[in-house]
Amino acid sequence: MMKTTDFIWNAAGQKRIEKLTKYLWIDRQCCFCGEKRIGDKGNRDTVMYAKNDVFGDSFANWGLLKAPYSEWICGACAFCLTREIRLSSFVATESQLIKFKKGEIEYYIFNPPDPPFAMAITYSYKKHLAIRARISMSKENYHIRIEEKECWFAPAKLKPLYDVMLKLYAIPESEKGKAQPRTWFTKAEMLTGNYRLGRIMAYGRDNLYTDEAMLKPYRGQIAFELLVYALNLEL
Ligand SMILES: [Zn+2]
Repeated sequence: MMKTTDFIWNAAGQKRIEKLTKYLWIDRQCCFCGEKRIGDKGNRDTVMYAKNDVFGDSFANWGLLKAPYSEWICGACAFCLTREIRLSSFVATESQLIKFKKGEIEYYIFNPPDPPFAMAITYSYKKHLAIRARISMSKENYHIRIEEKECWFAPAKLKPLYDVMLKLYAIPESEKGKAQPRTWFTKAEMLTGNYRLGRIMAYGRDNLYTDEAMLKPYRGQIAFELLVYALNLEL
């Protein structure tokens, strides 16, 4: 199977990193993926960049390097370590790299593309996720790399849970039209299960009891946190 870094780089059109001026074509082993790329001058696939130009001071994932003794890194791995790809959530397919914003997470996790694809979601806009993403072969239950974590996401199974979250995160009639309307409950309340009494009474204790029965089994799971994070304020 194709390596994830190659897959993501292909999705991005095998983009060359223009600012990295120190490169060569002859055969070298990539320090990151460990693959030996055979040189073929003019073939973009075989460009190797100087390792020191790619890894910044803040790089903390040295344990992931397959050939740490090599001074060179291949185009695919180098691309997956760029700031450009770190600053966005994304899904890579065989033909394109789709970057998306926080407000679009809901759409993409419930409507993933046809496989194969690799998805990563950032909360911090700092972590290297592309190098740790995985290629999924199904959209019924697929892999998402999220920060230091990962989860398997089954859209059909998790949609009813998300629908309940949407209800809890809706804006009550009484709040509509206000400059800073409050939702029935906050994300923190959903994450912890500690709801404020006044809000419980306003929402209806029995209603909350029913909804909470849906949330409770999933609380603490990575997919649960992701869904709460994905909730958008519907103004
Ligand atoms: Zn590589």
